[in-house]
Amino acid sequence: MPTNRQILLDNRPEGEARLSNFKLVSSETPALQEGEVLVRHHYLSLDPYMRGRMNDAKSYAACQPLGEVFQGGTVGEVVESRHPRYAVGDKVVGFGGWQEWSVVDAGKPGMLKKVDTTHVPLSYYLGAVGMPGVTAWYGLVKIIEPKPGETITVSAATGAVGSALGALAKARGCRVVGIAGGPEKCRYATDELGFDACIDYRQHPDVKSLSRALKEACPDGIDGHFENVGGYVLDAVLLRTNAFARIALCGMIAGYDGQPLPMANPQLLLVNRIKLQGFIVSEHMEVWPEALAELGGLVAAGKLRPRETVAQGIESAPEAFLGLLKGRNFGKQLVKLI
Ligand code: NDP
Repeated sequence: MPTNRQILLDNRPEGEARLSNFKLVSSETPALQEGEVLVRHHYLSLDPYMRGRMNDAKSYAACQPLGEVFQGGTVGEVVESRHPRYAVGDKVVGFGGWQEWSVVDAGKPGMLKKVDTTHVPLSYYLGAVGMPGVTAWYGLVKIIEPKPGETITVSAATGAVGSALGALAKARGCRVVGIAGGPEKCRYATDELGFDACIDYRQHPDVKSLSRALKEACPDGIDGHFENVGGYVLDAVLLRTNAFARIALCGMIAGYDGQPLPMANPQLLLVNRIKLQGFIVSEHMEVWPEALAELGGLVAAGKLRPRETVAQGIESAPEAFLGLLKGRNFGKQLVKLI
């Protein structure tokens, strides 16, 4: 059996996460038992929610135990199988964690899913046609419930979730306005993702300036907003919401290192009779088939062209993850292992 390089969570961060919180180790892969398969990971998924898992505190994902392989989504190939439903060469998506190989009890529900890579690259199953894509779908379809002609805004607009949100909202006939960091990301949003406009929030570093830019980009006000960031971005959006606007609260990455994120004008929720709802995509498994079917269709039609930032080799995972938490990624952050 192959030697397996793994990244463990070694200790918990105080404030900002650091490289020293992680540890690279090697171990032997155990021989397969009946019902198990050996998967060689091709890509690891790096996701902002993992930052919450590093703390021993209440978060929207369960706490990551110390001294164990850092948990996370993976895609790869079956290289040995003792399960009748999986054959050598099958491409699979699973939750193998930050390691090069995993031995999976393939009979357990939800452990492994075969995927078709004829038209969709394997890595997309961790992004646009995976958990981040479904996240965008759920927040838009089930919380924002957009109508054609409405104006929808989204922060972290060019990320794994934000880019899918843009394509899904355009497909529903909405005006879609992104908020993203830097001119290159904004150009990608309008030129490749089909956003009607994109605001570079770095050019608007305070609520007043950002809300003025939003007024220009959203002349009819904001009917739906998909929040990935929190802080002054959300404050600026709230100032431009219409009556009965809906906000899907998906993430608050600006506060993941523990910074407080006070809201400047919560009274606007009342004044504008706003619905604001948080959600966790893994609690809504019933929508995944419908969402994935639509997302796959958008990718196949070229209407959702996801970007990826790919780090090379298992040893690069911690640094790439810290970069993701600082917004250094452009699109879905992955680690390529082979
Ligand atoms: P992204 O690919 O969007 O990467 C994160 C992006 O956040 C960065 O690239 C950066 O883009 C942006 N960002 C804005 N402000 C900050 C800040 N202060 N610090 C760091 N980054 C910032 O990640 P995902 O698409 O995977 O996730 C997007 C959001 O969705 C996250 O908040 C995540 O936690 C949440 N999420 C929630 C789920 C749920 O079930 N509720 C499931 C999956 C994701 P820019 O340069 O444009 O600012």
